[in-house]
Amino acid sequence: MDYYSNQISRLIESFSQLPGIGPKSAQRLAFHIINMPKEQVEQLAKTMVEARNNVRYCAQCCTLTDEEICPICRNPKRDHRTIMVVETPRDLAAYEKTGKYEGVYHVLHGAISPMLGIGPGDIRLKELMERLQGDVDEVIIATNSSLEGETTAMYISKLIKPAGIKVSRIASGVPVGGDLECIDEVTLLRALEGRTEL
Ligand code: ZN
Repeated sequence: MDYYSNQISRLIESFSQLPGIGPKSAQRLAFHIINMPKEQVEQLAKTMVEARNNVRYCAQCCTLTDEEICPICRNPKRDHRTIMVVETPRDLAAYEKTGKYEGVYHVLHGAISPMLGIGPGDIRLKELMERLQGDVDEVIIATNSSLEGETTAMYISKLIKPAGIKVSRIASGVPVGGDLECIDEVTLLRALEGRTEL
């Protein structure tokens, strides 16, 4: 790509390392940035650096937040005795968008996958078990319906059940292999309402 200046090539290269960005999109983004007003570019860069520096895991539910405890965990109006277990912060956002779920969450940041070498110790399971020492009535497992999601659901249920806490799984109305965040709100709500005890 030496028909571009070195810096443009580097910018294109950087963009193409992002997920879902192919060579053409990387090129388009790079030229877009170069044509943007300088202040806007500086603001964008600053926002990215600040987010990267300040965003961390919530001390309770492990979702991404820029505070010690996220707004959902801090909210006294939420039902803190019902915990929904999801794989990613994006899944949490999908359920929040329905506006109908009143409990709190626990974000695993992944799912167990023997094939990819991801074991129980590689996701935020220990943190979930620690939370269950407190007052918890129900754990709703809302991991994806992929093989990894199902494996994780089964593993968690086996781990929790001896503690006498109710464990349920969202209904399989969620398409197999479906990403929770791509599913519409009605389907999500139906899956939540139709959950079955494990
Ligand atoms: Zn939280």
